[in-house]
Amino acid sequence: MALLLNVAGVVPESIVDGPGLRLTVFTQGCRHHCRGCHNPKTWSMRPQNLWETSKIVSLVQNNPLLDGLTLSGGDPFEQVAACTELALAVKALGLNVVTYTGYTIEALLADPERRPLVLASDWLIDGRFEQSLKTLTQPFVGSSNQRMIDVGRYLAG
Ligand code: SF4
Repeated sequence: MALLLNVAGVVPESIVDGPGLRLTVFTQGCRHHCRGCHNPKTWSMRPQNLWETSKIVSLVQNNPLLDGLTLSGGDPFEQVAACTELALAVKALGLNVVTYTGYTIEALLADPERRPLVLASDWLIDGRFEQSLKTLTQPFVGSSNQRMIDVGRYLAG
């Protein structure tokens, strides 16, 4: 059964949200409210555009040029069940998954509800956006406190 995801927007082809060519889903809803956030419209948790995850999987399937899916936001961990379902379906197609979050990987792994989405992601880009640490030179992050974590390597220690 496909779960419903509250979606702020979809970019069918992106090269700025992780390695290679990616379909990026901006999820709706974020509790972090970082000063200088690039997209405060994504903060509201109210249902806006509800998409079945299977619709997004079809978009991915229909583009053979894609390397993977990026879940961005908002914060995908506020809709962890639907995002995990989507991530696992995309990985089953042989593609990779990048997930952005304002939480740290340590906090997410300690939370049994949110942990599955960390495990379904190949890379996690973690931490809140800090305006004073804003960077335009580090790939794929907005501020230098954020980390691009290879989840498999991180878990292997
Ligand atoms: S985590 Fe991202 S979407 Fe949420 S407030 Fe911070 S910068 Fe904005």
